[in-house]
Amino acid sequence: MKLLEGQIAIITGAASPRGLGKATAQMFAEHGATVVIMDLNKADAEASAADLPGTGHFGINGNVTNKDDCIRVAQATLDAFGKIDVLVNNAGITQPLKILDIEAGHYDAVTDVSLRGTLYMSQAVIPAMRAQKSGSIVNMSSVSAQRGGGIFGGPHYSAAKAGVLGLTKAMARELAPDNVRANAICPGFIATDITAGKLTDDMLKQVLDGIPMGRAGEAKDVAGCALFLASGLSGYCTGTELDVNGGSLI
Ligand code: NAD
Repeated sequence: MKLLEGQIAIITGAASPRGLGKATAQMFAEHGATVVIMDLNKADAEASAADLPGTGHFGINGNVTNKDDCIRVAQATLDAFGKIDVLVNNAGITQPLKILDIEAGHYDAVTDVSLRGTLYMSQAVIPAMRAQKSGSIVNMSSVSAQRGGGIFGGPHYSAAKAGVLGLTKAMARELAPDNVRANAICPGFIATDITAGKLTDDMLKQVLDGIPMGRAGEAKDVAGCALFLASGLSGYCTGTELDVNGGSLI
């Protein structure tokens, strides 16, 4: 059964070949969605879209921290397809800093992409979703929001991702009367470029010891959760946070 047949989905930060956004785009396309990939670099976004199964997908450059870019991407999607069913706010960056090392530029960079970007892209699609009386917004938060950043993200990353959870719940409450849903995913330690090559063997052992399932997650583990939240299977879920972390919070 295809869960997103005929649906139009925008996924931000989906050009990274090993990333969660790309894996989500792949799974959405396999389930019948037409996907718009938004990322910083036009050629990378186009290459990522060209690689997906099915037809009609396209890549477009855009910086989620720039409100005009977000509006342009939403409008390009509406011009092409006349509707937007799903938005996945996936773009994010990490900085492995300690609390006293965070300066204004670090704070701005990290919070701008995860939190301001999620706000701006959501604002860009909400009018269309409201008019349609349907839509699903899926926001990529992190286990770092729930228990601190650990080795990868700094405290400002944890704060930004916790902000994403608050924003998700506030949007869910406000948009529910128009049948527009907003939910968040909290991935744990997933093997992608964000985590690749950043750990010594000792650090890796320490991370894996904290995961009851004893392994890093795979991008497709997160993509499956995004598919569930995007599709009608989760039609009565809004304002939720879905943990995909191998049991890290047990
Ligand atoms: P990644 O680095 O592989 O991909 C991130 C993508 O976002 C890249 O393609 C990058 O070009 C894009 N991007 C960065 N800034 C952008 C901007 N301003 N505008 C548009 N695109 C931008 O990362 P990933 O591991 O796939 O992570 C995806 C999301 O999941 C992020 O929000 C990350 O914080 C979150 N996350 C990842 C993990 C993990 O273990 N990998 C865990 C928890 C949460």
